[in-house]
Amino acid sequence: MHTNDIIAAAEKRAARIFKEIDDIALFNQKKVLDAFKKCRIEARHFYQSTGYGYDDAGRAALNAVFAAAFGSESAVVSPLIASGTHAIYLALSGILRPGGTVLSITGKPYDTLSGAIKGAGNGSLHDFGIKFREVSLKAGKIDFTAIGRAIKKTPGIKMIYIQRSCGYELRQALSTDDIRAAVNFIRPLLPDACIAVDNCYGEFTGREEPAECGADIMMGSLIKNPGGGIAPCGGYAAGKAEYIRLIENRLTVPGMGGEIGSYAAGYRAFFQGLFMAPHTTAQALKGSVLAGLCMEIMGFTTSPDVKKIPRDIIRAVKFGNKKDLVEFCEKIQAASPVDSFVTPVPWAMPGYDDQVIMAAGAFVQGASIELSCDAPIREPYVAYLQGGLTYEHVKIAIAGFLEGRGSHG
Ligand SMILES: *Cc1c(COP(=O)(O)O)cnc(C)c1O
Repeated sequence: MHTNDIIAAAEKRAARIFKEIDDIALFNQKKVLDAFKKCRIEARHFYQSTGYGYDDAGRAALNAVFAAAFGSESAVVSPLIASGTHAIYLALSGILRPGGTVLSITGKPYDTLSGAIKGAGNGSLHDFGIKFREVSLKAGKIDFTAIGRAIKKTPGIKMIYIQRSCGYELRQALSTDDIRAAVNFIRPLLPDACIAVDNCYGEFTGREEPAECGADIMMGSLIKNPGGGIAPCGGYAAGKAEYIRLIENRLTVPGMGGEIGSYAAGYRAFFQGLFMAPHTTAQALKGSVLAGLCMEIMGFTTSPDVKKIPRDIIRAVKFGNKKDLVEFCEKIQAASPVDSFVTPVPWAMPGYDDQVIMAAGAFVQGASIELSCDAPIREPYVAYLQGGLTYEHVKIAIAGFLEGRGSHG
């Protein structure tokens, strides 16, 4: 088949899902706009601040508008949060106390957290006497029976940890209904535990956020969905005000919390990024569906199910061998607006156990709301494709791969 025919066939099959993605984007755009109106955002909130940042109106307004857009009581949003991993770590280390146990109900947390959870002598949660237990998903679904058993036999559970997106696993992301069901099951068993959600890649993929489904706290990165491709850095936590206060104390200083912190470059990009986020996320979702359908026509297996609305912006493509996987990453890199001439190679990235290959030619370094692809070099050689500021860009990149495979269009 020719490249153009493959893409046309994929787009035809995607029509119904694209319509639903558009409807979700419209819903979320309204939600975000209403948040801006409710918080009476004005130009002075974009201004730079310096030094301690006392009475920084931009910082306060940014927290408020994110809380409103996420349907949460409170939020801390900051350029000082260096990554999604940092946001998650802040939530864990801010909320938990020595002797407490975290129970993950979605298996092993995302790779980059392993140092923070179990590192020895590096200031990890483990060093501070915080234990981590996990219950794996069963066939990609929350295993309520095993969770019930784990709760019964594990003393001192202070936090339930849920990872919404698939991470480096071949599974569907959880839906917000899955998260609601988990909250409803766990709350009566552990009324005082904090239910925390790693919300990376999940923001604005559906009509609700975990904080609206009963989760106490959720965390994510601004160089993924909620930064709209415009935020230059940063992360957030959103949820119950009592937890946000603890997280702010960990971010800065106990007792000062959210009263300090400046940003000399000004906050405009974070506000504008949030405003763009519903649309940008929809572009990435459509790109993911297109990539999935095209790769399946080419005979590869992909995840999530191409017949359903994706619940995160990741498209996993299983190659089964290193050569095809590397070639795919090379083609994505070659279709990047920045560093298109660079050849990505596998390397030992900080925070990851296996070698990782990353294709990214992004305006914001490492931004995975921009079209990017990464893969740990391990069986079964799965590439994780994500992002795309525009649907058109994803389409051009996929066409580049198809053409390289001999589908001349
Ligand atoms: C990206 C991601 C993280 C970590 O975020 P970084 O910004 O890369 O540190 C954590 N969890 C999930 C599910 C992610 O996708």
